[in-house]
Amino acid sequence: MNKIIEVQNLVKKYGDFEAVKGISFEVSKGEIFGLLGPNGAGKSTTLEIIETLRQKTSGKVLVDGINLDAQPNEIKKIIGVQLQTSGYYPGLNLSELIVLFGGLYNRDVNVMQLLELVNLKDKAKAKYKELSGGQKQRFSIATTLINQPKIIFLDEPTTGLDPQARHNLWALVRDIRQKGTTVIITTHYMDEAEVLCDRVAVIDSGKIIAIDSPDKLIDDLIASGFERKKEVKAATLEDVFIHLTGKSLREE
Ligand code: ADP
Ligand code: MG
Repeated sequence: MNKIIEVQNLVKKYGDFEAVKGISFEVSKGEIFGLLGPNGAGKSTTLEIIETLRQKTSGKVLVDGINLDAQPNEIKKIIGVQLQTSGYYPGLNLSELIVLFGGLYNRDVNVMQLLELVNLKDKAKAKYKELSGGQKQRFSIATTLINQPKIIFLDEPTTGLDPQARHNLWALVRDIRQKGTTVIITTHYMDEAEVLCDRVAVIDSGKIIAIDSPDKLIDDLIASGFERKKEVKAATLEDVFIHLTGKSLREE
């Protein structure tokens, strides 16, 4: 396994409260790796520690072989992080924002190529606040790619989106991985993890309770004798919804 992230015995305390309780995992180059868990499980805390945005209490983190304790600034150079929306100066349009962020990273950015990748070319002159929920998320993902990172971190990128916008975002994440970027994503939508992630870590109350491919985790459960109560149909209500309302995005 060609590791790009190694986390060993990571602990994070907020005062007396231990939010992350000694977790360990590895992510391979080119993977879409999911951190799954309910609200409060410790997903964002874990992500933000790896992103160098939060201090850990103890443990070891290596990103592309770089030790977080020794060279956090070297890690910053090779990762893509979703910026806080408060950084999206309201007076600027999308292409101006990308040029601005490119300047912060000291990078020449091909603005139109980047907007095309996230399917927002025709919104180049629009302001962030004028975008739909799905478009906002896609723009936010575009901002993670400005410094041509080896790894991007997406924290619940599809929360609150409608089915079409979610499917569209999954396609975008696959495109990004196709280009060789490793993706770490958090979600509490299990259907999303099942179709998108190569491997997942299930995290609950600050502990990893399972880690494997979705397929393997499902097969293990079935092998243990588990049976679904309800007959499994060949389609879901979401399939019905998308069939009725169309695959195309309403926002475009
Ligand atoms: P998740 O992203 O999985 O929902 P978080 O990592 O945001 O979980 O939070 C994990 C736990 O740590 C929660 O119980 C949360 O309330 C707590 N927590 C998060 N940030 C802070 C903070 N800055 N101060 C104190 N407690 C925090
Ligand atoms: Mg969170």
